[in-house]
Amino acid sequence: MSACDELLKLHDWDELLFGGFYCLHCSPTGEDSFDDPIAWPCPPLREAGLTDDEAREIIVARREKAEADYRAKKAAEQAEAQRQVNEFNHRHPVGTLVFAYPGIRPEDGAGTRLVTRTRTEAQVSASGDPVVWVEGEGSYISLTHVDPVAEDVWEAAWKAEKQAEPTVVTPQRLGHATRDETIPALLATIKELRASRQPLIDALTRVHQSMTACVGDEWAMEWLGEVWTQIPLHVRALAGDQDPASELGEGGA
Ligand SMILES: [Zn+2]
Repeated sequence: MSACDELLKLHDWDELLFGGFYCLHCSPTGEDSFDDPIAWPCPPLREAGLTDDEAREIIVARREKAEADYRAKKAAEQAEAQRQVNEFNHRHPVGTLVFAYPGIRPEDGAGTRLVTRTRTEAQVSASGDPVVWVEGEGSYISLTHVDPVAEDVWEAAWKAEKQAEPTVVTPQRLGHATRDETIPALLATIKELRASRQPLIDALTRVHQSMTACVGDEWAMEWLGEVWTQIPLHVRALAGDQDPASELGEGGA
């Protein structure tokens, strides 16, 4: 039996992309090989007496193990995310002063730093990441991009930012700079922001389209009714949803 185990270990197998199994040991290797892979169980295993039923059992067992491993890994990730959320909430109540980086962190390059405070408790996002919402930013931010800071540090940064007279940033600061200084920079920023968010808009549009295409599907209708409507009006309008687009139009008229 151990001889057979050794043989099985040597003649390990993998799945072909379009179905079927091949022997990793017997199949030709190398990118320049155009020979067909050798089906698994391969002749040496057949000669050793491996039956189809045994081969099937081996395949099923490995798939089950892979699935179990995957589930265990997901559960561990979920638990870890929840642990980070609990720890954050335990140490940093809503309103905690933070530096938040909606894009990239300063160690990784130039991005936006928000001198702000949390406006929700941390939670695990739908995609499984620990996140929190901060004031001045519509979307949640990963906890890895939110640094709680001491009050004096925060206040110094806040004052420095107010005195910095930024040429580009948020409209409420426009009053501090002249129109000629501000407008070109603002337009450039708008253009840049539009370009950077376009892939997200495209993705959202696709999700919305595929959901609305599922006419009559209970789950899709439920999703549109309960999840989609939670998304801000103007974001839905950007994704090509006609209802909020017309609603916004009326509001603006
Ligand atoms: Zn083989």
